[in-house]
Amino acid sequence: MMPKSPRIWQLAERRYRLLGSRCTACGKTSVGPRNVCPACGSEDVETVQLPSTGTVYSYTVVHALPAERERYGPYIMAIVELEDGTRVTSEIVDCEPEDVKIGMPVELAFRVIGQESEEGIIYYGYKFRPLVFRKTN
Ligand SMILES: [Zn+2]
Repeated sequence: MMPKSPRIWQLAERRYRLLGSRCTACGKTSVGPRNVCPACGSEDVETVQLPSTGTVYSYTVVHALPAERERYGPYIMAIVELEDGTRVTSEIVDCEPEDVKIGMPVELAFRVIGQESEEGIIYYGYKFRPLVFRKTN
């Protein structure tokens, strides 16, 4: 079992990688550091690097905007299924709400420091953007 030291997470942030936890008992992966497997309750959980690409599993276009976001217009919240099957709740950026599709390939984008979810879900500020609209410069 790999120790979940803060240093590992800091390094991961710098490289824009997405780290998760894998339960060695049941094999379930999830995003973020965990001490207990959310699926089976095992404490035998190791830190793993998750794939940085996946596809849109489902999505919602959010039109009800908090005042500080009003000028940005509606945004897309999606469940992204990574290549290893891990599902991640994330905002989709660099994509118009009318262009998002189920099954659309996406990749990990940048991280916003200090952003938190209202639902109490651990949220690390990662976002995903469409692979097809990627800027090449
Ligand atoms: Zn488990």
